[in-house]
Amino acid sequence: QAHAVWEKDKNHFIHPFTDFSTFHQQGCDIISDSDGIYVSDIKGNRFIDGIAGLWCVNVGHGRKEIGDAMAEQATRMAYFSTFNNLTNIPAAELSAKLASLAPAHLNHIFYTCGGSTANDVAVRLVHYYFNRIGKPEKKKIISRKNAYHGTTYMAATLTGIESNNWMFDTLDSHVSYLSEANCYRRPAGMSEAAYCDHLVGEFETRITELGADNIAAFIMEPIMGAGGVLVAPEGYHTRMQALCRQNDILLIVDEVVTAFGRLGHFFSSEKVFGLTPDIITCAKGLSSGYVPLGAALISDSLYEVLGTPQGKGGVLSTGFTYSGHPVSCAAALKNIEIMEREALCENIQRVGPYLETQLKTLKHHATVGDVRGSNFMMCLENVANKETGELLPLEARVGDRVAEEAQQRGLIIRPVGHLNIISPPLIWDEAIIDNVVAILDASFSAVTESLKKDGF
Ligand code: PLP
Repeated sequence: QAHAVWEKDKNHFIHPFTDFSTFHQQGCDIISDSDGIYVSDIKGNRFIDGIAGLWCVNVGHGRKEIGDAMAEQATRMAYFSTFNNLTNIPAAELSAKLASLAPAHLNHIFYTCGGSTANDVAVRLVHYYFNRIGKPEKKKIISRKNAYHGTTYMAATLTGIESNNWMFDTLDSHVSYLSEANCYRRPAGMSEAAYCDHLVGEFETRITELGADNIAAFIMEPIMGAGGVLVAPEGYHTRMQALCRQNDILLIVDEVVTAFGRLGHFFSSEKVFGLTPDIITCAKGLSSGYVPLGAALISDSLYEVLGTPQGKGGVLSTGFTYSGHPVSCAAALKNIEIMEREALCENIQRVGPYLETQLKTLKHHATVGDVRGSNFMMCLENVANKETGELLPLEARVGDRVAEEAQQRGLIIRPVGHLNIISPPLIWDEAIIDNVVAILDASFSAVTESLKKDGF
């Protein structure tokens, strides 16, 4: 069966973010089954899922309750439009639930099909807002190098990872990029506090250069995810927010990864980073990946202009066929119910620091230059030289090597260039963490040997 599936796959399925020069030779792991913290391939090999699918299966795999909630909604009323004056029960229920979980001033929800579309909508709503209040020249969005905000045209432009836009055009006139906040690779000899001043100063200068009257919003992931799990220096978030407020620049916080428990709270903006964003975007953990769903949570003051009669009426001409899809919303409601019933955020507050400490014990390995992140959003950076931070050559495929060694030992983690990302389902406990760290310990030892053997 594996061969038949692979034949169909390679002939007809275009995989996202895939290197086709190796894809056709190497074949694929066909993941066919899942249960709790495990996934299995079609040959019956079972692996610990160290990446929650792709930062998303937060409540773990195989939750029959979510399947049942979806089936019940699909057979009762699978789909009907939410345009104009139509709605459905799960969309209304989920909106009220999200408003109750979000920071107090974010009470209005716009549904999308995932994270990219949530960020696209956020930009459209920001532009719409400034057009409606008579400031149409406020257009620029400030993003950051190495940010990941998605892959639709606007979201790809907001994305500052250069290799992501290789050979694609972007909407450059709309976006200006600041430096990422990368404490590990900050200029040599600069303290973390001075680095923070430097980054905030760069934003200040950019505002002067572009003119506050031309800037609509600043978008940031509270911890950069795909760009390398970059944790900003102390004070960075609130100081960047203060500059936004002083200059009438709206703040969009992309919580596609950091919301729904990964950092120990349903939303991390306010509780972890002291932020009061105008818009929070989310996806992934919102439905634990059981069904595609994203959302933009909008502040009361934006909503005054977008959605109330005081906003002078007029059609808000944006949305998707599947905005507020009843089956997706039913899945998300059940997902949140499970998270609350099983106190999964509290589990992360307890177990998250343990994962951080245990992963840091791997620092003694020759290639492990940095272990960073927060709670269940972690990353190991592989280097050639720990003193200088010099990287191994690309041909060494160090991130891939570590991931391959781990997989042979029954653990899936994510390689991104020279990095390895670990973003587990929120149901890991201390015993599983010990097991995972033992697997990684053996994997890094094997990689050190194999790199030596191959002359790196
Ligand atoms: N924003 C962040 C921070 C992400 O990590 C991702 C995806 O990984 C996205 C946006 C895009 O989400 P999607 O792939 O659901 O469009």
